[in-house]
Amino acid sequence: MEQAISVVRHCFGLGITLFDTANMYGDSEKKIGAALESVRDQIVLASKTLNREAEGAAEHVDHSLSSLKTQVIDVYQLHQVGNPETLDRVLAPDGAYQALSKARDEGKIRFIGLSSHNVQIAIQACKTGRFDTVQVPFNFVERDLAEELFRVAEEMDMGIIGMKPLAGGVLERADLCFRFLQQYPKVVPIPGIKGQEEADEIIELYRTTRALTEKEREEIERIRTELGTKFCRRCEYCMPCQQEIHIPMALGFRAFVNRFPPVGTIALLDANMKKAETCIECEECVEKCPYELPIPDLIKENLSLYREYVKLHT
Ligand code: SF4
Ligand code: SF4
Repeated sequence: MEQAISVVRHCFGLGITLFDTANMYGDSEKKIGAALESVRDQIVLASKTLNREAEGAAEHVDHSLSSLKTQVIDVYQLHQVGNPETLDRVLAPDGAYQALSKARDEGKIRFIGLSSHNVQIAIQACKTGRFDTVQVPFNFVERDLAEELFRVAEEMDMGIIGMKPLAGGVLERADLCFRFLQQYPKVVPIPGIKGQEEADEIIELYRTTRALTEKEREEIERIRTELGTKFCRRCEYCMPCQQEIHIPMALGFRAFVNRFPPVGTIALLDANMKKAETCIECEECVEKCPYELPIPDLIKENLSLYREYVKLHT
């Protein structure tokens, strides 16, 4: 808690004013609340709920308000709306959107947003005209359909939040990642950081903004091509799997390791990794993946890394 408070305050001191968290990120809301209570009027707080029903989402808003130690949350988002069924569910009369709309009327939140790893769904959601912000992964590997999304969001006067500027920790060249993002000033990037040094490094890159050099463009293309055959964009087009494996989660082991401590990584991944062991290599998912990823092989690779990780940390 102490370390987190010190890092968050350091970020505020550097001029960072948007802090994005979620109800399901462990005690993240509590840490941010404790760190920023005294400067509440100078920052923008964003949180999210994964609950799809009105009742559950309303409880989450109240929970977030209390954890974040605030009277109002600036942006409250429907978390991970990744397929048409979920979008219909949250927008149904008894769905989560209804609770957020009521919370906005009551002054508990100011704006309603949604987050999604599926850009097609994000575009669909923007077109409903019911959201104020949209949050999607945006980095130089995940930029498919981005121009279309940005055009629609701009038409609807929505804010755009770019999650995973480093592709969830898969991209190591922060300089390339943020120089790329500087070409899109309307997208607010929300990098996750592990400590003050990472915040310093990013902010240093923003002391100057400039176009990408030819050499940087070539390097970006080289990395894109190299990752193309194995990088899961978490779009969920490959789902559902007949063995009920959550495929993007099973392929995302490295990203989880980068974001959570071992106990959190194992708690979040274990049940799905057990399911992943039952993959029968039917390849139905491969046919549906627009990036033609060799999913069964990648599952095996991630499983083997995961087993080693569990041995090391338990
Ligand atoms: S190959 Fe494995 S992961 Fe893909 S659909 Fe079949 S069982 Fe599911
Ligand atoms: S495996 Fe392919 S279809 Fe499935 S989430 Fe990843 S990128 Fe999307």
